[in-house]
Amino acid sequence: MTEPFRPIRALAHHWRDALLRLRLDSSPVSAGRALLLMSGTVVLVTVPALGPSAEDWKAIFGVSLAVITVLLLSFALPWSRLPARCTLCFPITVMAAVGSLGAFSEGPVASSYLSLFVFCFAYVGLYEPLHSAPPLLVLGVPAYLFAIGVWNSSVAVRLVIGCAVWVGLAYVLGFLMLRQREATALLQRAALVDALTGVGTRRDLDDRLTRLTTGDTVVVCDLDHFKQVNDTLGHAAGDRVLRDFGAVLNGCLRGDDYAGRYGGEEFVLILSDTDEEEAAEVLGRLARRWRTTGSTTTFSAGYRAYRPGDSGVETLAAADLALYRAKHAGRNRAMRAEVSLTVPDTGALERC
Ligand code: GH3
Ligand code: MG
Ligand code: MG
Repeated sequence: MTEPFRPIRALAHHWRDALLRLRLDSSPVSAGRALLLMSGTVVLVTVPALGPSAEDWKAIFGVSLAVITVLLLSFALPWSRLPARCTLCFPITVMAAVGSLGAFSEGPVASSYLSLFVFCFAYVGLYEPLHSAPPLLVLGVPAYLFAIGVWNSSVAVRLVIGCAVWVGLAYVLGFLMLRQREATALLQRAALVDALTGVGTRRDLDDRLTRLTTGDTVVVCDLDHFKQVNDTLGHAAGDRVLRDFGAVLNGCLRGDDYAGRYGGEEFVLILSDTDEEEAAEVLGRLARRWRTTGSTTTFSAGYRAYRPGDSGVETLAAADLALYRAKHAGRNRAMRAEVSLTVPDTGALERC
């Protein structure tokens, strides 16, 4: 038995594949191309049913050419260097196409496609800044009137209703998008920034460790006898120490450096363009800065420069082993992996 919807299914699959080949994603430019393709498809699939005249076909051909030109141009334009508002050209093209069809064709061909304006304003709501819809009526209203081709009180009322629906739709979608963007920003922050200390989360840190390059030095810092802080002063005091340490790390490091919380009272630093000697100096500065907060809690550290061929995990493991040795050597000091630093006379971190 033949399936009645088979040709329609085949056409839908064809367009889906075509859209995928255009590498559609959720960017305004890709969505704009989809708007042009979708609108064009609706017109081309349905227009024969409207019985267009020879004059109408000419108008359809001309308008289609213009839309295809804009679509092709969209691949040539350097979108990243253009102002964001340039993507308004996609809904403008569709509305201008419907208006032009009304101006150059006879009969009801163009007015049948006024519902495409809903696509246009939905696009504006989803992808353009919040208040973009009302100014677009400057084009939407004449395009509507050209498409209808007559002017009377009934058209005027329908036009007002149409404008209200288009702008309302754009605002509803615009507000939803704003809320979604806010929620996404919050989630991203929660995924990337540790809530207590303000440094990177373990998830972010793991990701950074996979991207080490030559010149990076990995440091593992661990607060000394931190359990005693919790046990003697309480967890709230312990939390304050962690928060202060995070603030000192964020304040001490350069823009290209990175600090993340490895877990508990352990922090990992990724110092870019820093060899092991410079890392020791950075740790010395960090220790001095930390002492200025008045905290009596010290920290120990192990560090290791990234070597090409090693993985991030191996580099971190080497730094962690050095930290272990620093702890065993008496804490409040930093050690480089494999080679122990000469323990200075006056407090190891002062010199490291
Ligand atoms: P060491 O010098 O050998 O590192 O000793 P330590 O006491 O610092 O290490 P230990 O691993 O014995 O204890 C770490 C403590 O850190 C235990 C745990 O309760 C505490 N801790 C981990 N995360 C948090 C946190 O978010 N807040 C607070 N207040 N304490 C935490
Ligand atoms: Mg500790
Ligand atoms: Mg620890």
